[in-house]
Amino acid sequence: MEKLNHDHAYSNCPACEQVGQWKVEAKLEGIRRFLSDERLGVSTDISESVSYGYGDLNDNGFWEFPVPERLVQQRAKLRAAEEMAKLLQTVKKELAEMDTPWSNRLVKLIASEQVAWEKAGKGGK
Ligand SMILES: [Zn+2]
Repeated sequence: MEKLNHDHAYSNCPACEQVGQWKVEAKLEGIRRFLSDERLGVSTDISESVSYGYGDLNDNGFWEFPVPERLVQQRAKLRAAEEMAKLLQTVKKELAEMDTPWSNRLVKLIASEQVAWEKAGKGGK
């Protein structure tokens, strides 16, 4: 995709409007593929920053369908939180099987943490 360096509003020029439309469509396509869990491409762009996306890489290291880095980071955090929740669930089950006063106290503590997490997760939407 050629970058046009015209110094005017998109609406004044069909060529710029077309380029603007392609950019938006490319971003949406990148996000669509990311959300459908396609294998994400990783590269380093011309400014030595990590860039994520799909499709072809241009000579400057930018993807045809780019994915914003913060989206990638947010998903990594979400997956880590899901893993921790699973681990907590396993520990709670093991403690419940022990059925001693201290293990039962811990089961209650973990259960209340899980409720708090769920609420926090729902509140974050
Ligand atoms: Zn123009």
